[in-house]
Amino acid sequence: MASLMFADCSSSTTSRIIHPNIRNGSFLPRRCIDQLRLQTTTSGRGCALSIRSSSSPTPVVSTLIDGSAVAKPIRDEIRIQVSRMKETIGVVPGLAVILVGDMKDSARYVRNKKKACESVGIKSLVVRLPEDSSEKDVLKSVSGFNDDPFCPWNPCSAASTIGKQKKKSLYLYHMDEQNILNAVRIEKDVDGFHPLNMGQLAMREREPLFIPCTPKGCIELLHSYNVEIRGKRAVVLGRSNIVGMPAALLLQREDATVSIIHSKTKNPEEITRQADIIIAAVGQPNMVRGSWIKPGAVVLDVGTTDVDDPDSRSGYRLVGDVCYEEACKVASAVSPVPGGVGPMTIAMLLSNTLTSAKRIHNFH
Ligand code: NAP
Repeated sequence: MASLMFADCSSSTTSRIIHPNIRNGSFLPRRCIDQLRLQTTTSGRGCALSIRSSSSPTPVVSTLIDGSAVAKPIRDEIRIQVSRMKETIGVVPGLAVILVGDMKDSARYVRNKKKACESVGIKSLVVRLPEDSSEKDVLKSVSGFNDDPFCPWNPCSAASTIGKQKKKSLYLYHMDEQNILNAVRIEKDVDGFHPLNMGQLAMREREPLFIPCTPKGCIELLHSYNVEIRGKRAVVLGRSNIVGMPAALLLQREDATVSIIHSKTKNPEEITRQADIIIAAVGQPNMVRGSWIKPGAVVLDVGTTDVDDPDSRSGYRLVGDVCYEEACKVASAVSPVPGGVGPMTIAMLLSNTLTSAKRIHNFH
């Protein structure tokens, strides 16, 4: 399997690090090496905040882009706003997820969404439909959430979940992802996948109602760490509708010069090596090696692939698209997997959900 081919990434080189892209960061820089130590000492996911810099002689190399730390104040603020809305107008924002089938990664993502909603006081509703549901069944669920004026829920994510499963499940080939995306009411499209939202994102001087959560989270991370984007060369690996393409559009909106790498790109390594900012979203474990990275570049790793790991309690572990150990020795800053982009995706989803509820109920 291709994913397993890349699953091991060993480090062999050390580089002198320069940090041209990070200006006085608003976050105390944590070092990649801390995260590496964490990964070898615990099976925890992204809980590296408790780890302190060690006095070991291991050279400190690059900044760890800590998505959990950046996401926390965003979630705290959302919790405050949700409670203010409830107290003032008696409305509690809601998020509905329609999950078709029971694929492991989709189910996990939905579980995480539910937990995250509960943690900030947003109501969450998961509608589970069997894998052999018809497109009509799904559309009926979507339109129920769209039309009910008393329903506080924001239908979301059904289409992305279905889109993912469609590739992997014979049963879902009968569904047209576009029909489902089109059916979501644009004011409730908190994933930002509706073609109208995407179109607005692509056009100059237009503002989408919602920006897709993962790319939005990536840009927030860059801002949080004061990474200069304007005039920089950025490379996005992957061109999916939900991550790669909108990430490239957002970087372009921020005046980066953007290249997109996809499965037919020749010499991806050479192109990637020119980038000051790299966003990797291909779902190919450890594809981006240290040699692909320009010294001092900033690297965001979106990829999350389950790789079998008999030593882990769950039997698998999440592996990113970037060889983390090698990247730490070349880049000025790297986001880990887990604990990098993932927490930001969830925070942006909660933020979009609150925004949607505020707009619908005209609450400021
Ligand atoms: P996707 O729909 O499968 O798209 C993958 C993209 O990568 C496609 O554009 C594909 O090119 C390209 N690609 C695949 N193999 C490649 C290769 N060997 N060389 C160059 N390009 C290659 O995946 P996605 O939904 O965008 O997700 C990407 C990854 O991010 C996955 O691991 C997913 O689990 C993860 N993800 C993480 C989060 C998070 O919050 N952390 C959120 C969403 C997704 P073509 O267009 O030519 O096929």
